Amino acid sequence: MDLEHTAIQRLQYAAEISAQYYNAPLIVTYSGGKDSEVLLELARRAEIDFEVQHNHTTADAPETVRHVRKTFRRLELDGIPCTINYPFYRGQRVSMWTLIPVKLIPPTRLVRYCCDVLKEQGGRNRCIVTGVRWAESSSRAKKRFFIDRGKKDDTGNWIGFADNDESRREFEACPIKGKTTLNPLIDWPDSTIWDFARSERLCLNPLYSCGHDRVGCIGCPMAGDKRYSEFRVWPQYERLYRKAFDRLAGTRKAMGKTNEGLWSTGDGIFRWWMEDKNLDGQIQIAGWKS
Ligand code: SF4
Repeated sequence: MDLEHTAIQRLQYAAEISAQYYNAPLIVTYSGGKDSEVLLELARRAEIDFEVQHNHTTADAPETVRHVRKTFRRLELDGIPCTINYPFYRGQRVSMWTLIPVKLIPPTRLVRYCCDVLKEQGGRNRCIVTGVRWAESSSRAKKRFFIDRGKKDDTGNWIGFADNDESRREFEACPIKGKTTLNPLIDWPDSTIWDFARSERLCLNPLYSCGHDRVGCIGCPMAGDKRYSEFRVWPQYERLYRKAFDRLAGTRKAMGKTNEGLWSTGDGIFRWWMEDKNLDGQIQIAGWKS
């Protein structure tokens, strides 16, 4: 069975779960990236009842924001309901840059609070599908499944739809309270995503044709060194992070938190966050004499 057919079957299964347990259409999440573009196209082909939601992270490139709006206008003309979720934290509208001083640390690979607040807010008490794939990261390959299981039973085991055992029956007897996430493209390699997007002439985010291989948040800590080139393309985002780190340093100082070394200034925090290997006092090439 080919990957496309399997993904469509998974979407149909997800739509059934959504109707049966949530009495609502399936939510297709849409980030503006290539995976969600493929997911959206397959949802249309699956002939299921669905709506589309995008989480506005506030750190996406302007090109991505425009692409999402354009796609949503097209979908709405076809009668598909679309929603853009704006991020809130403790009842307040937030952005990446207002969130950083509140959290008292920058977002890092290990502490990705921004994803929780900015990217995963929608879909509460609903069944959603995402474009998450194993091929995107090796750690994800070990941790994620076709179905992300959202709660544990009394013995600490995850309960999920895919469990073909007693827990499945228990699950079916108890309406789910939280969000259930399914990943129909979980086993798609990059090459299949690109082949499908090209052969079906999907209207992709224009950033891909400008040479970008990822179109997520600008400055995402998961992007590592690529952030340097991102900030060259979108310098206004570097300024926003720097200002946020200035406020972060000020807030930490006002709260009496330890602000030693690089953590005493916004610039220092920015350098630490960018994993800048240059140390204070290091000789500059202009001053070097043999
Ligand atoms: S910056 Fe990265 S970790 Fe943070 S919300 Fe965006 S994608 Fe998630």
